Amino acid sequence: MILILKPDATEDQVQHVVARAEEMGFQTHLSRGTFRTIVGLIGNEEKLQAIPLTAIPGVAQVVPVMSPYKLASLDAHPQPSVVRVGRVPVGGGNLAMIAGPCAIESLEQMRTIAAAVKKAGANILRGGAYKPRTSPYSFQGLGEDGLKILREVGDEFDLPVVTEVTDPRCVERVDQYADLLQVGARNMQNFVLLSEVGQAEHPVLLKRGMSATVDDVLMSAEYVLSQGNSNVILCERGVKSFDKATRNLFDVAAVAAVQRLSHLPIIVDPSHATGRPDLIPACAFAGIAVGADGVHIEVHHCPEEAKSDGPQALLPEQYSELVDRIRELASLMGRRIPTADGEVA
Ligand code: PEP
Ligand code: MN
Repeated sequence: MILILKPDATEDQVQHVVARAEEMGFQTHLSRGTFRTIVGLIGNEEKLQAIPLTAIPGVAQVVPVMSPYKLASLDAHPQPSVVRVGRVPVGGGNLAMIAGPCAIESLEQMRTIAAAVKKAGANILRGGAYKPRTSPYSFQGLGEDGLKILREVGDEFDLPVVTEVTDPRCVERVDQYADLLQVGARNMQNFVLLSEVGQAEHPVLLKRGMSATVDDVLMSAEYVLSQGNSNVILCERGVKSFDKATRNLFDVAAVAAVQRLSHLPIIVDPSHATGRPDLIPACAFAGIAVGADGVHIEVHHCPEEAKSDGPQALLPEQYSELVDRIRELASLMGRRIPTADGEVA
């Protein structure tokens, strides 16, 4: 940790800063420049995080040396992590191909979509049972009945399943049915929920909040990791912007930025990022090209009848064509799409 003192810090203040730091058990290193004095603190930086150092008279700025997300950081784990969802490895060159409807509507609907996306090459099936809707009058999801359908269809088609958990009280229940627990954009900073999924048995898919910075996402991942669940996959799904051309602003650079800071796999969700089926393929390719560890896409066999997010759903045949092209792009980049059985041919 480095403390930069104010230009007008008095000698008494400099000595007070040094004395306070030494009291806390730190070695200090004083460096006096023409305009500024800086104090280097040598010791366990974690201990300093709870102390309001800028409240000490004369201190202008505090510059941490270590990253605040210790477990999520590349410092803690210099190689990319591989997270297993069912038998599917995600990360380290293995791409998650998550596909399915926004919401689980019926057993028949899930069977139809699961058959199609499995045939197309998806390796993880998605479907929402608890839907975080903007309006309380919109379809809220089938709840536990939806979880049962998802599990049954996942087993029938031998696909691991992911579904969103919106409430800390439901984590145990969702953990019983799902292979991957999704924390949605609206809950990315629900710290109680993050701590709870941090104690779950299954891995977590953490979506970036719509106004969250890259640092915010990594700090949220840290909540999960710090509770003992070391299996976290991040997801870039677009941030709020002024432009109505797309539903959100797909921040493809954030994927590369996260990979410079963290070992955690990160996938992209061009469905929620763009809200436009005609733009989903281009953004999926961009995500893979920039280094994403997978693609999350909403697929529905009859979008006009979908109970949630129908306008952004790809038809199964469009999804199939997209997977073929992603496979080509991935192989050019030395990456691969494992099968749902975890084979990485
Ligand atoms: C979803 O995956 O259906 C969803 C609601 O996503 P997000 O949290 O990114 O809006
Ligand atoms: Mn959706």
